[in-house]
Amino acid sequence: MIKTKVIVTNGPSLKFNSVLKNVIRYSDIIRFNFSHAKEEEIINTISRIEKISEEIKKDVAILGDLSGPKIRIKRLSNNFNNVKKGDIVDICFNKKEDNIKEDSEKTIYLDYNLFDNIKKNNIIFYGDGELKFLVLDKYNGKVIIKALNDHTVKIEKGISVFGSEVNLEPPTKNDLKFLKFAVKNDFDFIAVSFVKSDKNIKQIKKITGDIEIISKIETKEAIDNIDGIIRESDGIMVARGDLGLHVGIAKLPITQQYLIKKCQEYQKPVIVATQLLSSMINSSFPTRAEANDIANNIFDRVDCVMLSNETAVGKYPVETLQTLNEIIENTEKFIESEENSNRINKINTKINKINQAISFAAVGLAHNFKTDCIFAPTQTGATAKILSSLKPYSNIIALTNSKKIRNKLAILYGVRAFPIEKYNSINEMINNVKKVAIQNKINKFIIVSGTPNKFGTTDTLKYIDLKS
Ligand code: PGA
Ligand code: MN
Repeated sequence: MIKTKVIVTNGPSLKFNSVLKNVIRYSDIIRFNFSHAKEEEIINTISRIEKISEEIKKDVAILGDLSGPKIRIKRLSNNFNNVKKGDIVDICFNKKEDNIKEDSEKTIYLDYNLFDNIKKNNIIFYGDGELKFLVLDKYNGKVIIKALNDHTVKIEKGISVFGSEVNLEPPTKNDLKFLKFAVKNDFDFIAVSFVKSDKNIKQIKKITGDIEIISKIETKEAIDNIDGIIRESDGIMVARGDLGLHVGIAKLPITQQYLIKKCQEYQKPVIVATQLLSSMINSSFPTRAEANDIANNIFDRVDCVMLSNETAVGKYPVETLQTLNEIIENTEKFIESEENSNRINKINTKINKINQAISFAAVGLAHNFKTDCIFAPTQTGATAKILSSLKPYSNIIALTNSKKIRNKLAILYGVRAFPIEKYNSINEMINNVKKVAIQNKINKFIIVSGTPNKFGTTDTLKYIDLKS
């Protein structure tokens, strides 16, 4: 089983149970994009997921992705849908202005008023950048733009302004509605789009309680405020789609590197998202560049990778997941083979807490004595989080009776979670862990634990070889 975790996005491609079953098998988290899905449909799909997950005995966690202040096309004049290079197009912001005289036959109506944010010579991107416009002028509440290439346009697609900051922050009114829905329906993770600062996360956490919060980094402002955002979040997503438009595609690779390193510094999980295998939306075989991109993410020791359109609307959701799995498996094996291990950068961590020191010792022990796994009996998941951030070669098996906690660990590199019988003392705990080990044919292992019934203590390390 691979150690890097996989998020898939729900969509029409997963409407058959036979497909969903394979998707659950090959993934750790299923994402619902709140920009598109309807509440009733989401509830139905979650109950299908729960049924299948029970049937095949494979846990999968649920993530709700807030749309945030994404600027979308609300209406197109005369329902035009074709743009040719050189076409002059107007942007209007207010539906009330419907009856103003349009200078151009083609008018795009947006759902937010960006008149003050857009400046002459800014570049405006449509979708993921398929279509580019240059801003020529602005007056009377509308912006005049010129198409720089040919493409079609559709309503509901996103618009980004390059070269200008848009002062809209999450949670929007719509986000607040979906946050309530997510709490009511027991989501494991919430992803927050277009986070600008830690203030946004603090506000959201007041509503979500103990749901894990993933901040999607998609703007320059988020990068400027990255330390506060990472500290406040349970994980970070390098949301390459929008980020690529906001920092510019040429700076995307170094921005991705910067964000991955930052998360590792803070020992917080990092997800790399968008276009990992987008050629497989229409083809059963990926490009070489995509295979390399995935492998490079594994070399960078990211915790999690995410598929979007590939599984939501693609023709080959299961093949895409199998391809992703195989590339990850081979790359992880390469990293872990002793011959190569000294050529790969090791994670550097500052150790200033006892639980970190104990975890660090366990990871070293596991490596030197080639244990089969590190068991982490845990009440909060904290021990498993620290162990995972050290990226050990041994698997980490978190043991907890709470399904909620097991699901929260779905994002963490190398962590699998199983239930364990109740215990009240260290000896009882060790005996229960041994039972799990025997059931799973595990002989040589380490237990990293705290004192039973005392939260937040990780102070004990035990090495066990059942064969000696
Ligand atoms: P989205 O986020 O798919 O919700 O836009 C991911 C990204 O921007 O990369
Ligand atoms: Mn995005």
